[in-house]
Amino acid sequence: MYDRFNRKINYLRISVTDRCNLRCTYCMPAEGIKMLHHSEILSFDEITEVTKMAVSMGVDKVRITGGEPLVRKGIVDLIKMLAAIQGINDLAMTTNGIFLNKFAKPLAEAGLHRVNISLDTLDPEKYTNITRVGKIEDALRGIEAAKQAGLSPIKINCVITKSSDEPDAQMVKKFCETNGLHVRFIPQMNLETGDFGIVEGGEGGNCKICNRIRLTSEGKIMPCLFSNLGYSIKELGVKKALELAIGNKPRSGSVNHINHFNNIGG
Ligand code: SF4
Repeated sequence: MYDRFNRKINYLRISVTDRCNLRCTYCMPAEGIKMLHHSEILSFDEITEVTKMAVSMGVDKVRITGGEPLVRKGIVDLIKMLAAIQGINDLAMTTNGIFLNKFAKPLAEAGLHRVNISLDTLDPEKYTNITRVGKIEDALRGIEAAKQAGLSPIKINCVITKSSDEPDAQMVKKFCETNGLHVRFIPQMNLETGDFGIVEGGEGGNCKICNRIRLTSEGKIMPCLFSNLGYSIKELGVKKALELAIGNKPRSGSVNHINHFNNIGG
């Protein structure tokens, strides 16, 4: 599956919920955001149907995101359903890690390959300030549980303000080197203003080689994170929505005035 700019689109990011147990300052306002009603959220069967169709059109890499995917009830069952789809070579999840201590082993047994875990600092107080409600011990326990469960590689998503030379980023980098983890530095993004940058240690944010589309938790296929374009599988049907999203994928990102990070999964 290639788009108009001859980019191979083989990566589907799936937001399974707009809810999260944390309130990170660069993602959500303290009071939270108006959440979707449960009846608007895609069922596991609908998510599996979209994924099967996307795989038949060339997707081989799938990532589960949120909000926080581990707050979605029955998430292990969804992983089992997706892992059963032939043609997915890479099944990953992005999580804040707080509930990984409980879920890492069942997720690995269900067929999840690997995880990206958010960690912007090793300073407990700063961690609680950034997440507003989180405790760093829980995230660190989650990282250890992911290791024990054999999820691999484990990548650490570290959001930076300006540069990976920042003291917190350097602390996280050292922590990763010591613990056999892969660090990725993600420049803070702003959907409204269109501020974004290339992920250091990853591929995100590099429009020239962008290979991804997104499925939002209420069933829209988004060709680009920094665009207002979205195609509803409920209105258009799965195949048509996927075709339109790839056919209209913009050359590069601009702004997104209709989504928040919590319902598009970053
Ligand atoms: S801004 Fe859009 S085109 Fe650019 S890398 Fe992100 S998703 Fe891809």
